[in-house]
Amino acid sequence: MRIAFFGAGGKAGSAIVTRLEAAGHEVRGIELGDDPDVAGCDAAVDFTTPDAAPANVRATLEQGVSCVVGTTGWDPAELGALAGEKGLRLFVAPNFSIGAVLMMRFAAEAARHLPRAEIIELHNEAKKDTPSGTAKATADLIGGDAAIHSVRLPGLIAHQEVIFGGEGQLLTIRHDTTGRESFADGVLLALEKLGELPPGLTLGLDTLL
Ligand code: NAP
Repeated sequence: MRIAFFGAGGKAGSAIVTRLEAAGHEVRGIELGDDPDVAGCDAAVDFTTPDAAPANVRATLEQGVSCVVGTTGWDPAELGALAGEKGLRLFVAPNFSIGAVLMMRFAAEAARHLPRAEIIELHNEAKKDTPSGTAKATADLIGGDAAIHSVRLPGLIAHQEVIFGGEGQLLTIRHDTTGRESFADGVLLALEKLGELPPGLTLGLDTLL
């Protein structure tokens, strides 16, 4: 596919672009200040900032191109409606790591049988938001007001444990992100499935697995 990539030079973007090119896709990187020209592209991807993403997505949809977004911290509802009106797709996921999404799915299954659980999320000290969006989403999925414990230290990337306690037993489900290239698997999957999605907004990688 020919893919326009907003934020190709960023930490997540550069790791993902390397994997997209290795998979045979042709990538047009669009950086801050560039003309958001996606003409001739089969899809666009955005890993920028919550301030930049809405304008990038709007420009993409106005040019008739569907979009995959990893940027967090913005509300895609309005642009999802615009995509629907135009018969285009807007796919947005707060976590493109397939392992993390499976960890959440397995935790939801475990909670049906072991309802007492607590979550430990561990991230690099550069991450300022606490708790992480993935930890909050996991707590919502498993229900029961699971406590979330947040650790911020150098040496960590992104890790999460969900510990289930029962009488005489413990079950721990853990996911470790060891490199940002992990997000590329989810982006590749979203690009592959984009054309099969209904027009409008689709939220979350779980919907594609
Ligand atoms: P980053 O290293 O700061 O990268 C952001 C990139 O976007 C930078 O290269 C920046 O350029 C560029 N940019 C800013 N405004 C732009 C614009 N208007 N048009 C085009 N490019 C623009 O940040 P990151 O760690 O890669 O994260 C980027 C976003 O992805 C964040 O929202 C983060 O939460 C999210 N993220 C999501 C996932 C997921 O799985 N969904 C995974 C990782 C990250 P300059 O440096 O020139 O400003």
